[in-house]
Amino acid sequence: MTVVVDSIVEALKQFLDGDQVSVNETVRELHGQDESYHVASLPDIVVFPKTKEQVSEIMKLANELVVPIVPFGRGSSLEGHVIPYENGITIDFSLMDKILEIRQDDLLVKVQPGVTRMQLNKELKKHGLFFSVDPGADATLGGMAATNASGTTAVRYGVMRDQVRDLEVVLADGRIIHTGNLAAKSSSGYHLNGLFVGSEGTLGCFTELTLKVYGIPEFETAARAVFPTVEDAIAAVTSVLQVGIPIARVELVDEESIRQVNHYSDTDYPEKPTLFIEFHGNEAGLAQDVIFTREIMEDHGCVEVQFETDNTARTKLWDARHNLAYAYTHGYPGKKQMVTDVCVAISDLADAVHFAREQLNAANLPGGVLGHVGDGNFHAILMIDMKDAEEVKRADAFNEAIVQFALDRNGTCTGEHGVGIGKQKYQAKEHGESYNIMKAIKISLDPKNILNPGKIIRIEE
Ligand SMILES: Cc1cc2nc3c(=O)[nH]c(=O)nc-3n(C[C@H](O)[C@H](O)[C@H](O)COP(=O)(O)OP(=O)(O)OC[C@H]3O[C@@H](n4cnc5c(N)ncnc54)[C@H](O)[C@@H]3O)c2cc1C
Repeated sequence: MTVVVDSIVEALKQFLDGDQVSVNETVRELHGQDESYHVASLPDIVVFPKTKEQVSEIMKLANELVVPIVPFGRGSSLEGHVIPYENGITIDFSLMDKILEIRQDDLLVKVQPGVTRMQLNKELKKHGLFFSVDPGADATLGGMAATNASGTTAVRYGVMRDQVRDLEVVLADGRIIHTGNLAAKSSSGYHLNGLFVGSEGTLGCFTELTLKVYGIPEFETAARAVFPTVEDAIAAVTSVLQVGIPIARVELVDEESIRQVNHYSDTDYPEKPTLFIEFHGNEAGLAQDVIFTREIMEDHGCVEVQFETDNTARTKLWDARHNLAYAYTHGYPGKKQMVTDVCVAISDLADAVHFAREQLNAANLPGGVLGHVGDGNFHAILMIDMKDAEEVKRADAFNEAIVQFALDRNGTCTGEHGVGIGKQKYQAKEHGESYNIMKAIKISLDPKNILNPGKIIRIEE
């Protein structure tokens, strides 16, 4: 095997500099895991291309030798997406991190895949613009497009798929294609943007992305609203959405999670189901929205509501929500985090969250339920001891039960984290005959199955 790896390294060095190719143990370890509980597995080689031409050469070589390829952004995904279970070559895009063009008049930006969302937002701020998708982690835009990431702002601005105007993609055989153009709309041809976004590195490597951006809102208001029950909180959100108040973010945090927040962020919020809300707009319009929202919240039994317009106070409020995953990790040292991710129709959300809490209690596992309730997507965060096989089994059974609940209600096994390895087993069940169509697409674009094999599609199934 060493001989084979050595010869591939030599072949790679024909078009990459020596420091762009690594077989170093530590580098391989860093690329053999993500942020999840999934078991690590190391790539044989890690490469750091700087241009699309180099990516194309890597793909041609891998395709010829039938070597697995795993594209890698920041490794912040949560379902084992980047773990190379069949080893091979990992392509790390961190050296392709240039913001290529800001088209202010078109509200578009062109970036390389290794640009992170915080890096982009820092630059866009100078132009009065921002990029809307916020998955919490400082992920790369290539990784975010590949997982169709979303997060807290999806309720107002949509998910990654809604932001992508064009992708430059290197296919398995090294061909370089574009999936879209600059036009705001098009009825021309098949919707390849839609296909490649969310493909998790199984159909091609993105080397350039053209994305929609937005003007920074004139005014922002944040709110924290406390409810007696999760059901009351969800009913309040549904009413706010139904009357058309344009909330930019709305996050539900259950009482156990508020407890973790208070410990970690040194806050003393009431330990009850809580909504964190954000409004974007102009000052006069938002003043009306705030009055209306308060009335709706109170109609649904809200026991405390606090609005913040000051920048520091708003940031403090949202930091508490953003740091929740880290608050759990901090609260349970030595344990690993399992984050579930189903999405259901908004009218099924209260039942789904209630079911998840019941199952969590029955499984006797520490954790909480939280979610982007404006779009029916929620997570349970479980803290598990990976050395305790029985505990891992109970956590897996819990995850399985809530996925099953979502599928029974015609929802999905993943609202935003993606399939990776963890949700692969649900694909045939969720998609039925359409799963075979997906398989046919995969085979036609990657006949040797070199691109992130085993993720999303199992060819042999
Ligand atoms: C604390 C925390 C909170 C999170 N919250 C959210 C959330 O709210 N919403 C959400 O959507 N996600 C969330 N995530 C998950 C994660 O941040 C997203 O999945 C993110 O999109 C992954 O980006 P990445 O750059 O880390 O990609 P990676 O993890 O490196 O890769 C993800 C996938 O993209 C592929 N890929 C990477 N780069 C390319 C490329 N250039 N071309 C083709 N394929 C590529 C990889 O092969 C892999 O399949 C969270 C993660 C953490 C740790």
